[in-house]
Amino acid sequence: MSGSEAARRSAATVSKDVSKDGRPETAVMGTYARQDLVFVRGEGSWLYTGQGDRYLDFGSGVAVNALGHAHPRLVAALTAQAAKLWHTSNLYRIEGQEALADRLTRLTFAERVFFCNSGAEACEGAIKVARRYQYISGRPERWRIITFQGAFHGRTLTTLAAGGNEKYLEGFGHKADGFDQVPFCDLDAVQAAISPETAAIMIEPIQGEGGVRSASEQDLKALRELCDTHGLLLVLDEVQTGVGRTGKLFAHEWAGIAPDVMAIAKGLGGGFPVGAVLATAEAAQGMTPGTHGSTFGGNPLAMAVAGTVLEIVSEPGFLDEVQGTALRLKQKLAGLRDQFPALIEAERGTGLLTGLKLNASVTPAEVVKAASAEHLLLVGAGDNTVRILPPLNVTHEDLSEGVERLARAFGRVQNHPSS
Ligand SMILES: *Cc1c(COP(=O)(O)O)cnc(C)c1O
Repeated sequence: MSGSEAARRSAATVSKDVSKDGRPETAVMGTYARQDLVFVRGEGSWLYTGQGDRYLDFGSGVAVNALGHAHPRLVAALTAQAAKLWHTSNLYRIEGQEALADRLTRLTFAERVFFCNSGAEACEGAIKVARRYQYISGRPERWRIITFQGAFHGRTLTTLAAGGNEKYLEGFGHKADGFDQVPFCDLDAVQAAISPETAAIMIEPIQGEGGVRSASEQDLKALRELCDTHGLLLVLDEVQTGVGRTGKLFAHEWAGIAPDVMAIAKGLGGGFPVGAVLATAEAAQGMTPGTHGSTFGGNPLAMAVAGTVLEIVSEPGFLDEVQGTALRLKQKLAGLRDQFPALIEAERGTGLLTGLKLNASVTPAEVVKAASAEHLLLVGAGDNTVRILPPLNVTHEDLSEGVERLARAFGRVQNHPSS
């Protein structure tokens, strides 16, 4: 690289503009419409820029930083493991995997666990488990999965087909076959979609990306019954709802039902990439040597951190505290709706998976932008909704501060529509 080119490149990393030769400011592929913010440090519910500006993080990296930033016990778990062993591969037994699988099975319906690195991989793995179960049970014709409009299961080609969002599928060739989509929680449509080829029903107990839309307890119970009646597996995508986000360890616990297979990720690693497929022993019976794998899945670093996240979240009183925080937030948001009836249509969600459905005159992007101007981070969602996802251990003080900032943000939107 010539000196002048090096200078241009280094200038490009600080310039917001496209350089003279038309190259974008960064070589990072432009798959995100990112906010122009760079954070260099985090602590609890706060993120800090290089200039020392601090932002209250009520997005939690899209429900990932379940315990906030730089939690001392997570830092300790990661650094202790980092000094010992990073990676060996799944050709060998991994102590941390066996310990975490044991912990997960003690805490849930599950009896078997497969570790991966992300939510999409967990969903993809869950789909494989369900299809393979039917195959190994002598029903190889059952491979189709019923999914729901508004769903989000990830960005791999198969999970995109499962989610069925045309916008995300456009330009990527034929949509993967094997998914039959029906309107969210339309039980008659589910029943009508069940065919001799159906293997499973797959649903998020609360659609996160889809706009914090909840399946009711009755809906989940009815889906469980339909699965039992027709010999289908119930597959839950708890990638966003899991690991304490709704105030229970897993959202389906609110409905008093259990799935056969469940995909989890996001909050599980508290910011370290990790996902998992959980299943009953029966549902997992097809997953024999060679049927699935992952080079990085369940690596010792991920296991050390995720083990500590689960240890903390399952400590007595932790989830009660989350439910208490959620109740306070709900009351504050109800107050906010009364204050801004022209902007906010409804509060949504359970626990700290919270959304505000906006009136049609406002977009989530406007609210996210106004909040950002108040140094409050939120996340947009589908169905004209913004998500408020504070860390599960957010303090009372930070919660109140966040809602005050949110009120000021709505004030900005009200005073300067679409600015
Ligand atoms: C985020 C999310 C996924 C995809 O997770 P990635 O880690 O981005 O692959 C899948 N399902 C749900 C419900 C999610 O919220």
